Amino acid sequence: MKQVVLLGSTGSIGTSTIKVAKDLPDRIRLIGLAAGRNVDLLRDQANQLQPTMIGMADSSSIDQLRQGLEPEIETVFGQDGLIQLATLPEADIVLIAIVGIAGLEPALAAIRAGKDIAVASKEILVMAGELVMQEAARYGVRVLAVDSEHSAIFQCLEDKPESSVRSLWLTASGGPFRMLDKEAFDAITLEQALQHPSWVMGRKITIDSATMFNKGLEMIEARWLFNIGMDRVKVIVHPQSVVHSLVEFCDGSMIAQLSTPDMCLPIQYALTYPDRVSSDRVQTDLATIGSLTFQAPDEDRFPALKLARQAGLTCGTMPAVLNAANEVAVEAFCDRLVAFNDIWRMVSEVMGVHEVVPHPTLEQILAADQWARHCATDWVTQHGRSN
Ligand code: NDP
Repeated sequence: MKQVVLLGSTGSIGTSTIKVAKDLPDRIRLIGLAAGRNVDLLRDQANQLQPTMIGMADSSSIDQLRQGLEPEIETVFGQDGLIQLATLPEADIVLIAIVGIAGLEPALAAIRAGKDIAVASKEILVMAGELVMQEAARYGVRVLAVDSEHSAIFQCLEDKPESSVRSLWLTASGGPFRMLDKEAFDAITLEQALQHPSWVMGRKITIDSATMFNKGLEMIEARWLFNIGMDRVKVIVHPQSVVHSLVEFCDGSMIAQLSTPDMCLPIQYALTYPDRVSSDRVQTDLATIGSLTFQAPDEDRFPALKLARQAGLTCGTMPAVLNAANEVAVEAFCDRLVAFNDIWRMVSEVMGVHEVVPHPTLEQILAADQWARHCATDWVTQHGRSN
């Protein structure tokens, strides 16, 4: 039985994790839950699952949360609350599925308290991959991937040393604009960008998939998770989203992990690792799928890939800057203040003026994050549509 704390329980990954926990009541017990603003759903989840402690992003919703909540469930709030949850003494593993930066400090706190972490929030490894992996090694805990691509690579690698790997190949669906002409990119609307062809996900990651910043963030995530040079992390477009990623070994052999797309599978693998546990959720009928196709990504139409490779090669605070500028840009696009192509333009300009701090501390990473947010917000003020 694994005692699991789930940060981000009301989101897309969070609700899938609850499905997995309900499928495997003898294996997984959710002892802590945290959400941002969705009070009603968090209360329902808590009353059903009976965790020890639950948390909300801020204190203003705590009174509302407590109305109708089982009285023995403790409530906490804010970053301190997330850290309390992440370090609950009885927790074995903390699954972090919060969008953005809020999961970083709780992740480090969990590691330092000797807990394994399962990482959905790619921002954690993008911003602070070096630090997180160093701390995990120091405290002897595992960092398990929840992202389907990284889970696939983890399953293919099977503890083979980095020296036996030629390249890691992350597959990308290509998003809704895989076939769109470059000239049409500036006219892309929010509604079009929110239509992902194969995955149903939260809003931020859906836009990131459309720009391919999601794949860029995943490249940096893979670099740290598997301790491999950025030049050996590659991307291949695979529109069917059945091959979740591949490892090319030094002898030329390629091993892939396949299944129909369902996040419950990588979530379950992370929470039951090292066991593989039976589940009827995913059935993959290759004959019905028929064909699997692959194509090289077009970095000219999707400059996010180039920018992410550049950030991953530069390291230091640059990936945190890319991540923060992209977050501001996506928000501005969702608020209809900037065009689709402005997302990568903003990120590129902010990265261009950043003075990199090598091997940064947590404080330096957070400072770079704040700096990039200010810089990107200024960009929106100067070039955004409201002006
Ligand atoms: P969602 O937007 O669906 O969910 C985000 C969750 O985080 C919600 O539960 C939200 O609560 C919670 N949250 C936000 N801020 C806080 C906070 N300050 N404190 C506590 N909880 C907070 O996102 P996804 O589930 O799609 O994605 C989560 C992460 O997983 C992202 O980093 C994404 O990149 C990554 N990921 C997602 C995949 C997917 O298929 N969705 C696949 C692989 C990775 P509330 O709703 O109550 O505001």
